[in-house]
Amino acid sequence: VAEKETLGFQAEVKQLLQLMIHSLYSNKEIFLRELISNASDAADKLRFEAINNDALYGNDHELRIKVSLDKEAKTITISDNGIGMSREEVISHLGTIAKSGTKEFFSRLSGDQQQDAALIGQFGVGFYSGFIVADRITVETRRAGADSTQAVRWESTGEGDYSVEAIEKAGRGTDVILHLREGEDELLSNWKLKSIIRKYSDHISLPILMQKEEWDEEAKATVARDEFETVNQASALWARNKSEVTKEQYDEFYKHVSHDFQEPLTFTHNRVEGRSEYTQLLYVPGHAPFDLWDRNKRGGIKLYVKRVFIMDDAEQLMPTYLRFIKGVIDSADLPLNVSREILQESRDVKVIREGSTKRVLGMLEELANADEQETKDKYVTFWKEFGQVLKEGIGEDATNKDRIAKLLRFASTHNETDEQTVSFADYIARMKEGQDKIYYVTADNFNAAKNSPHLEIFRKKGVEVLLLTDRVDEWMLSFLTEFDGKELTSVAKGGLDLGKLEDEAEKKEHEETETQYKDLVEKMKGALLEKAKDVRVTHRLTDSPACLVADEHELSANLVRMLKAAGQ
Ligand code: ADP
Ligand code: MG
Repeated sequence: VAEKETLGFQAEVKQLLQLMIHSLYSNKEIFLRELISNASDAADKLRFEAINNDALYGNDHELRIKVSLDKEAKTITISDNGIGMSREEVISHLGTIAKSGTKEFFSRLSGDQQQDAALIGQFGVGFYSGFIVADRITVETRRAGADSTQAVRWESTGEGDYSVEAIEKAGRGTDVILHLREGEDELLSNWKLKSIIRKYSDHISLPILMQKEEWDEEAKATVARDEFETVNQASALWARNKSEVTKEQYDEFYKHVSHDFQEPLTFTHNRVEGRSEYTQLLYVPGHAPFDLWDRNKRGGIKLYVKRVFIMDDAEQLMPTYLRFIKGVIDSADLPLNVSREILQESRDVKVIREGSTKRVLGMLEELANADEQETKDKYVTFWKEFGQVLKEGIGEDATNKDRIAKLLRFASTHNETDEQTVSFADYIARMKEGQDKIYYVTADNFNAAKNSPHLEIFRKKGVEVLLLTDRVDEWMLSFLTEFDGKELTSVAKGGLDLGKLEDEAEKKEHEETETQYKDLVEKMKGALLEKAKDVRVTHRLTDSPACLVADEHELSANLVRMLKAAGQ
């Protein structure tokens, strides 16, 4: 048996603890939600491991969470009979932060308390939030399948270090004991804790038990009975009828599955029957996570099979370009012992993915096409946070390409700001008489796009040009060559054909200028022999003397620059 040892927290944990205690105090009740959420996850993990190893249950099959308090000792205990932790797991889970996006999170901290509090919320507060109300936390835990003598006690005051030691523990699972700080006595009330649980954790599908309290006439006080009662609804929220679930409950459930602190933008909840039977409860978050661009990032969908949790990050359930969607899918058809390999091959999974993709696009269309300003604003937020990711769908999802194209938003010369608010439909509605193409310019950044000399002729003629400056744009454009029968045309490519936008007089004038400068052009061609493929008299410029253009069949200058930057 290993001795008691004292270990230092990872530097990031110390920093997070400091920040959290100071900036989340006004929100302190959330500690209970976080610890109950962990207890519920622990039960899910046990159920999952037990699918192939029923012995893990021992003689204790009824999964539950207990919340109790000790007024004398001034402690609150959150106790579960879930998976528990081994010594190694305790050290890695409660001594370090192993989340993706950690580096990004710490680099964005500003020192401003309010701003940082919001950032911590986005990052996820988790276990350490216990230290908002406790000046010491003791965790006693026994891994499912381990002997009673192989349990572990973890303890810390939430400053620089923590201790771990071997102990004996009668049952499986984890007890988290919070030793409340001075001045937190208000929390030592059954009634208070119950109301916090009902507010934040009602959606938890396990029973959350608390000791019954009754008024005692003789003592003239409420006293605890030796009896427990369930204080939440204790049924899977996604399996309930929509009409039975309030907006607040949907929001709290979102926070539980997403580990997010803020409300979602919108959600969709459906029971699908037919070819494949499943329930989907899918949310669009209100902000991008820290690891949106992390290619190895886990998916946001929890897979359940008939209410049994199967896995957290089932990527097959959602296409990559919708990787920001969070929620739950509960299948009635998949086998309980489904593995990642099976998921990859499964017809049912394919049907679920297609159905869920359509639902998500439908949900986004509802926001985008809403009449109500508040809902419209949600689409603006969505686009700011996730628009660049959605663009990946143009290349990734041929089936839904047209639907996705309608959801795209751009900056344009129409409003001259870098805000991406113009849809193809907006553009088409403003097209000039005789215009049959959708014009765009690509560049590294908004200013370069806006000031491109290629725009001069378009400005002069009052023709709108979309200004594309996101990294994915060039790639996306290689899959999107037209919209609604109108060709997407770069203003920087080839011998620009303005078609009917040019009148006869202009054409004649152009021809005359070309003859006039013929000799000069020939001389310049000679001088630029190795450097330029061709030299032409231009009609597209009104103020600048000259500009470079790409050949119709060549890569655009901007794409060449991007490929170079990527080391190609
Ligand atoms: P998160 O829940 O987002 O993973 P937390 O800080 O809440 O982050 O918890 C960190 C980790 O500690 C969890 O991922 C889990 O592995 C472990 N853990 C926390 N509480 C429990 C518990 N009650 N039972 C088993 N493991 C737990
Ligand atoms: Mg947690």
